[in-house]
Amino acid sequence: MNMLAEPLQKFATNSLESHWLPFTASRDFKAEPRLVVKSEGMYLWDHKGGKIIDGSSALFNVAAGHGRKEIIEAVHAQMLQNDYSPHFQLGHPGSFALSAKLSQILPEPFNHIFFVNSGSEAIDTALKIVMAYHRARGEGQRLRFVSRERAYHGVNIGGVSLSGLMKNREAFPGVIPNVVAMRHTWDSENTFVRGQPETGAELAEDLQRFCDMYGASTIAAVFVEPVAGSTGTLVPPKGYLERLREICDENGILLVFDEVITGFGRLGAPFAAQAFGVTPDIMTMAKAITNGTIPMGAVAARDEIYETITNSAPENAIEFFHGYTYSAHPVACAAGLATLDIYEREGLFDRAADLSGYFLDAIYSLKDIPAVRDIRGYGMMAGVEAWPEDGKPGVRGNRLQKELFWKGLHVKFTGDTAIVAPPLIAEKSHVDEMVDILRQTLSVL
Ligand code: PMP
Repeated sequence: MNMLAEPLQKFATNSLESHWLPFTASRDFKAEPRLVVKSEGMYLWDHKGGKIIDGSSALFNVAAGHGRKEIIEAVHAQMLQNDYSPHFQLGHPGSFALSAKLSQILPEPFNHIFFVNSGSEAIDTALKIVMAYHRARGEGQRLRFVSRERAYHGVNIGGVSLSGLMKNREAFPGVIPNVVAMRHTWDSENTFVRGQPETGAELAEDLQRFCDMYGASTIAAVFVEPVAGSTGTLVPPKGYLERLREICDENGILLVFDEVITGFGRLGAPFAAQAFGVTPDIMTMAKAITNGTIPMGAVAARDEIYETITNSAPENAIEFFHGYTYSAHPVACAAGLATLDIYEREGLFDRAADLSGYFLDAIYSLKDIPAVRDIRGYGMMAGVEAWPEDGKPGVRGNRLQKELFWKGLHVKFTGDTAIVAPPLIAEKSHVDEMVDILRQTLSVL
């Protein structure tokens, strides 16, 4: 470990200027750099040699744990075989194999997958699929999109337009028009509720109100994260997603589930659609699709959507004018296939369902700490929210994230909420280790 740590420590002190870090306060970071130099299994190591347990599956993507040899070998073999070939008017076998494999774990009838490179690209691609579909059906006037307060749908212009987070939008006005936001589903009455709250399904009536107010025939789609992830694990109240589905069906509106965090076993089922028994029309995914190794995202559409768009084009015409140089990159596809093999072989989605009870018991044991304002959780995902410091949201969270890191726990914060979402390979002892560090740290606030 020290062999690695030393040169990187030198690097850190000399070369922290050039990289403009994403979602990071630069001055703050340079004053106290935290560099990860190694990762393996459930752990990360920092440049000082510290060992840190990964409480958030890195960024909710490393679901099978770090350093999986099977993925590394598949990527290496693919690089040797075909490092890159274009997809426009050409193909390679890996993308067909991966889409077929994904279809097997997606609900019916999702047999068509469009590949992208990130969650943000998946969202912008989904927006375009929605528009192409309505246009192909002669309903091109459907251009209004419905999102939600506290929604996070990535950072590209489409995703920022759908965002329900003021911080993500305030500096970027002039994004796509005609987006309206339903209320979020957090309710102080449901503080410390575990799993789906019993009350709150009526919040779905916001969609009905928009139909009444704007005319249902102007609304193209509703985008929701089944469990709002980046804003602190907001679990949908019982009946809420079902009611959204009903209103969409009654009004020709498409329902899009953003499964970038909830996909690939996080909730104890392949996707949230199966966990909650509600099937959307379009699903976006990314992150754990390659276990975090190679950037990749995807959009899955119901067969009818794919067929409508495809059949609308005259023969030989391109039916969907969209794609990226790196859509379905052969190396990403190889990583994706190896990742799905691990999920299947190790039964990680079922494992998540089995471990969830223990995980949530441990997390909810933090409830008695005075600094803890709320806990929400479902599957292998929980939000532990601290009271804000001096009424200033986010200050305490920012400090806590650093403090926890130096004490040996990596956990992603949003505002004052720690989002705990360990790799699905975690043992009970790993859960205990995470919760112990959280308890020690939160108890002295
Ligand atoms: N949608 C959701 C629900 C997300 O949680 C995220 C990332 N946290 C994104 C989209 C954006 O994904 P990416 O960072 O890969 O662009």
